[in-house]
Amino acid sequence: GAGLAGATAARILAEAGKRVLVIERYRHVAGHCHDYRNEHGITVHAHGPHIFHTNNRKVWDFVNRFTEFCYYQHKVLSYVEGKFVPFPINRDTICQIFGVDIPTYEVSDFLEREVKRSKFNTPPKNFRDVVVSQVGERLYELFFKNYTIKQWERDPEELLPEVAKRIPIRTNRDDRYFSDKYQGIPKRGYTRMVENMLNHENIAVMTGVDYFEVRDVFKPELTVYTGELDRFFDYAFGKLEYRSLKLEMKTYDVEHYQPVAVVNYPNDYDWTRITEYKHFLNEKSDKTTVCFEYPLASGEPYYIVMTGDNMEKREKYMREVSKLEVSGEYLFVGRLAEYKYYNMDEAIEVSMKKVLEWIKR
Ligand code: UDP
Repeated sequence: GAGLAGATAARILAEAGKRVLVIERYRHVAGHCHDYRNEHGITVHAHGPHIFHTNNRKVWDFVNRFTEFCYYQHKVLSYVEGKFVPFPINRDTICQIFGVDIPTYEVSDFLEREVKRSKFNTPPKNFRDVVVSQVGERLYELFFKNYTIKQWERDPEELLPEVAKRIPIRTNRDDRYFSDKYQGIPKRGYTRMVENMLNHENIAVMTGVDYFEVRDVFKPELTVYTGELDRFFDYAFGKLEYRSLKLEMKTYDVEHYQPVAVVNYPNDYDWTRITEYKHFLNEKSDKTTVCFEYPLASGEPYYIVMTGDNMEKREKYMREVSKLEVSGEYLFVGRLAEYKYYNMDEAIEVSMKKVLEWIKR
């Protein structure tokens, strides 16, 4: 595939002198970070908002070979009790929600009192436990419970702790979504960045082609698989769940729709969040394009679902993957093929690592 995992693998193999054919099911490259400039001059992320952030210097150096990055630190507000408040929860969020004015050095004690009043399992067994053990039931219920039910359509107690670990809790006034060392948005878009990755004399790209329909035609030395894990094995151990989204794009005749790029709606409305794209690259236009995200159980597989059942099934599939990888004929990389909730930088990192090891071997 021509997403980040596939394009990274292709580039590294091409630079090692291998001839690479990329087979992409979509009619475009860049997978789910595909973007385009719309008629109003606004760069729209076709499959929902993507913000690049990493602590990995090797990954940062790698992507910087293919694009310049626009300075951007992601800010999110959450619409709670009729107000926009900073999210992830920080000192300002707490002051606004509880109507208190406390200094940074008192925030931990404040949260500790909230936690003491609350019930949860120690050590944490699930998503709810992780959040409640950090902020207590009141903040969990306002910011996390209903967003999680909307997004995953299941009880937060069925989700594994890892999902909650994506979201930091801060006692200071840092209101950024991510605290990674390197952050930004590709100046000319993710699609251009991936096109540049694939622009190498040893790489050919076929788009609009399903790998499973053509795979018998080729006898490659190595197959780098980036599609759904269960599909590769004909669902031998049962179907893995994926979540999808309905993305409703709207353009309004106003300069700005909301103060920041993303506003989360945990408790109100059916959408989980609204993204206003022009914030990412600070684009100027009289109009603005926004995207409403409605979670769906079926459709394009955007998310894996971190429940015990799915992860047990994953283990069975991954044992088969290991055997294939040991043979030296296959590598499975990326969010879909490894059934892992990777961020963009992690997809690149794992692809670099696996391919470089394969080349060495
Ligand atoms: N989450 C939440 N409230 C929020 C934002 C996130 O409860 O306002 C939970 C929710 O379960 C979500 C998970 O944290 O699926 C991960 O959030 P993230 O923003 O990383 O999701 P992504 O950007 O991958 O959709």
